[in-house]
Amino acid sequence: MEAVITSPVSAPGGGAVRDVAALPKAHLHLHFTGSMRHSTLVELAEQNGVQLPDALVEDWPPKLRATDERGWFRFQRLYDIARSVLVTPDDLRRLLRETAQDEASEGSGWLEIQVDPSGYASRFGGLTPTVELVLDAAREAGDAAGIGVGVVIAANRTRHPLDAKTLARLAVHYADQGVVGFGLSNDERRGRAYDFEGAFRIARRGGLLSTPHGGELQGAASVRECVDLLGADRIGHGVRAVEDGRLLERIVDRGITLEVCPASNVSLGVAPTAADVPVRALFEAGARIALGADDPLLFGSRLARQYSLVRDEHAFTDAELAELARQSIQGSAAPDAVRKELLTGVDAWLAAPSDAPRA
Ligand SMILES: [Zn+2]
Repeated sequence: MEAVITSPVSAPGGGAVRDVAALPKAHLHLHFTGSMRHSTLVELAEQNGVQLPDALVEDWPPKLRATDERGWFRFQRLYDIARSVLVTPDDLRRLLRETAQDEASEGSGWLEIQVDPSGYASRFGGLTPTVELVLDAAREAGDAAGIGVGVVIAANRTRHPLDAKTLARLAVHYADQGVVGFGLSNDERRGRAYDFEGAFRIARRGGLLSTPHGGELQGAASVRECVDLLGADRIGHGVRAVEDGRLLERIVDRGITLEVCPASNVSLGVAPTAADVPVRALFEAGARIALGADDPLLFGSRLARQYSLVRDEHAFTDAELAELARQSIQGSAAPDAVRKELLTGVDAWLAAPSDAPRA
């Protein structure tokens, strides 16, 4: 977890800027299968006899567009195929081991990885053994890579709210063994946050962070439900909160962190280009932001790239990037000692000389 300070690297436009991969940060929005290395997907598919579509082999990363239900269905189908290559407990341990290594090399000293155990339960002996396997593998992977790894159990909003309650109880049961939050994922158009109030009440009473997805495929109303009904501490994406000034004010006042994933938004057609993701507007409004990669396996880029994207597309200075890193750490469930160490590392990163800091 030690902060690594490297010398400034050359920017494409000339001059030197600090290396964003060396900036200590927390990664709060990363899905389990979606974190897999592409090379591992191809290897495991071969090993386990899974036929991958071209979009996941020679045409990788796939061209996606999820702004209509058909597009989302295609994204989901590719995700399900990718998940099907994880057959044995060792496959799952390998995924987490490599993900933790990749996180460490991108400056992420604390990772919260999101998993819906229902998607794996049939292969790993049921929900409880799946959660136990994930937690054990996460601990092992984090220790080996020298980072902290927490787990967010996420319910699927297209399934019955009672399933979500079952998951919330399970998540709470493992709250002191590595589960740090409770999420809600999948197609916002097919499951309103409103229906999952009960599950989130269980999770919050059990001391978990509330981290539902909202305001990605649907507008501000979806974010509002996450804030008002699910007691969100963080919101997955939430970028469309920018469409409602009063809601945004509430998000700022409550100190809710938005897990903004620029490359994902572009890949899924939520924003036409990275320049259209409202990172600058949200930041200027005072919203707390934790940049995330969402599903590197399907979108083709990891965490450090999200920081360089906002540097390149939204003219974030190194001081502003450092502030984003601080907000990611402050919005995390990392223990105090870890937060302190990472925050000290952020200051050191910024204090290191840069020949030509961008204004
Ligand atoms: Zn997500």
